[in-house]
Amino acid sequence: MKTVYFDNNATTKVADEVLKEIKPLFCELYGNPSSMHTFGGQIGRRIRKAREQVARLLGCDPAEIIFTSGGTESDNAAIKGTLAAVPDKRKVITTRVEHPAVLTACRELANHGYTVVELAVDKEGRLDLADLEEKLDDDTALVTIMYANNETGVIFPVAEIAKLVTGKGVVFHTDAVQAVGKIPLDLSKSNIDLLSLSGHKLHAPKGVGVLYVRKGTRLAPFMVGGHQEAGKRAGTENVPGIVGLGKACELAAENIEEENDRVKFLRDKLESTLLQKCPGSRLNGDKDNRLPNTSNISFEYIEGEAILLMLDKYGICASSGSACTSGSLEPSHVLRAMGVPFTAAHGSVRFSLSRYNTEQDVDYTIEKMPPIIDKLRELSPFVNK
Ligand code: PLP
Repeated sequence: MKTVYFDNNATTKVADEVLKEIKPLFCELYGNPSSMHTFGGQIGRRIRKAREQVARLLGCDPAEIIFTSGGTESDNAAIKGTLAAVPDKRKVITTRVEHPAVLTACRELANHGYTVVELAVDKEGRLDLADLEEKLDDDTALVTIMYANNETGVIFPVAEIAKLVTGKGVVFHTDAVQAVGKIPLDLSKSNIDLLSLSGHKLHAPKGVGVLYVRKGTRLAPFMVGGHQEAGKRAGTENVPGIVGLGKACELAAENIEEENDRVKFLRDKLESTLLQKCPGSRLNGDKDNRLPNTSNISFEYIEGEAILLMLDKYGICASSGSACTSGSLEPSHVLRAMGVPFTAAHGSVRFSLSRYNTEQDVDYTIEKMPPIIDKLRELSPFVNK
């Protein structure tokens, strides 16, 4: 059976070009970049190149890039590292729709005497910047707001938010795990202090990420030991991961505009056809301000998990809620924060595309899905028959 992979916000295929680049690093070029000998030294050069490739995609200086183990580590490091560097301030502002990597880290702070403010969103998943401005005060150490939502794809006006926050002398972090590689982003033109990204969301391997730290931003080291990563993040480098991430960033920088258009065309065809052919369906999230690859659709009165299981029989991979929380019966915290009714939040499916999807993938799903929805509706105890 063929696999149609529409779960790219959970993780992505490693690009062939990336795999080719990293293969020799396991058994041939396996030296430690901190070693004095030439064998290890040549690895150091590859890490420098990867740092430059990432910096080019982000529009920053290579010295501002710290390699980490992924998005979760970068988010935790940004939050905890900032608070440790600014010990006299005790307030953090975030949103209700962050990924658990940010939300759980922030909620834990509340147990340690911090005031944690979670900003609300409207029914389209948008923030009220006046609300943010009102909550910023002299005690605020950090504002952490995601660039784009992993479940709905809704993009926040991060450049505007960063200007507002840093204008008040507060550090601004953004979790850009879902944005990097999907939409253009230029840190040289923004006031963002800290930014997280994750390799496995943009066709690099799992277990590698980046924390961008703007020059001059105060951040306590978050992993101590050796002096790797300018003393900010100790530990022997994940060389294949880092080199792969560099290559993936180079590929993304080359093709971002073209791919955006193609992926958006496929996403829009899938979305509009499903909305039209499946009664009781509705789109979740701001239609106009979204990642080009993401579509989150609710099918009222049926369980998202039941839809996923039936799609799975045809080899179609999607998700309900975020991959990290699936398995729990609670409806998505993002959709609940947007005020999506329980009956619709439970029946939500997220399709997330990548450059490897084809129009055949879309056509196949459009053919298989409407009968699945009809069948599950018939079985639903919540629908009047
Ligand atoms: N932040 C967002 C918005 C995400 O979507 C994810 C993963 O789904 C993460 C953080 C965590 O990244 P990682 O899997 O690299 O730890």
